[in-house]
Amino acid sequence: MTQIFSPKGRIQTLERMTAREFDMLIIGGGITGAGLARDAALRGLKVALVEKEDFGFGTSSRSAKLVHGGVRYLVNGNVHMVKESARERKILKTIAPHLVHGSAIHDLIRYGHEDPIWLENLSKNTPAIKGEVRLAVEEEMAQSLIDFMDRRSARFLFGNDHCLEAAKTAAEIMGQFLGWDEAEIERQINDYADHVERHRIS
Ligand SMILES: Cc1cc2nc3c(=O)[nH]c(=O)nc-3n(C[C@H](O)[C@H](O)[C@H](O)COP(=O)(O)OP(=O)(O)OC[C@H]3O[C@@H](n4cnc5c(N)ncnc54)[C@H](O)[C@@H]3O)c2cc1C
Repeated sequence: MTQIFSPKGRIQTLERMTAREFDMLIIGGGITGAGLARDAALRGLKVALVEKEDFGFGTSSRSAKLVHGGVRYLVNGNVHMVKESARERKILKTIAPHLVHGSAIHDLIRYGHEDPIWLENLSKNTPAIKGEVRLAVEEEMAQSLIDFMDRRSARFLFGNDHCLEAAKTAAEIMGQFLGWDEAEIERQINDYADHVERHRIS
């Protein structure tokens, strides 16, 4: 039987959609589309969602997974955005306290107090710090090097080669927390190198 949420079943799913009537069609399965679909369905609307790649393919896959207050935007004088995101964060803390916990910056400072090594850069040319790898495993359920490097280190900002340079240290840190042996660390690094080769960002 074809699985509904598998790309293999895409054609059949689209065909099934044409045979039904919907109240709302959402184009794009990033966080905005997914959130709209959920909200509309909860209000009793019949909702269809189409996604040209895969769910969370766009910027949603690159989020740093922080419900941040957007303080960094103050540098650009964008006070309105900072105010809005701080308000949103407060609402989320109230309606979904199980999802919004801690604060990355506080965790990183705590790691730094435990041992300043966590504040060191992952590599000479990568601004990410070692503590971010630990945070990704401990707080964000990162389970593979590809997951950390691609989703949490913003490779497209730092560049392919700089991230490959940082991969070994990141894999060793993940290994410490996830119990990887030498062979698994090597496998993770090789998988990541293949992945970068297949999806090179120019
Ligand atoms: C490096 C980085 C870090 C970030 N960190 C954070 C963070 O920590 N906290 C935070 O709150 N925000 C963060 N953001 C911002 C956040 O990720 C985006 O605001 C959010 O993901 C946007 O979601 P979206 O659903 O609007 O768009 P997207 O996630 O881009 O979704 C759009 C979807 O539409 C699909 N699509 C496009 N055209 C079509 C079409 N014609 N037909 C069908 N489908 C189509 C795309 O494939 C895509 O999946 C970060 C962004 C980046 C880049």
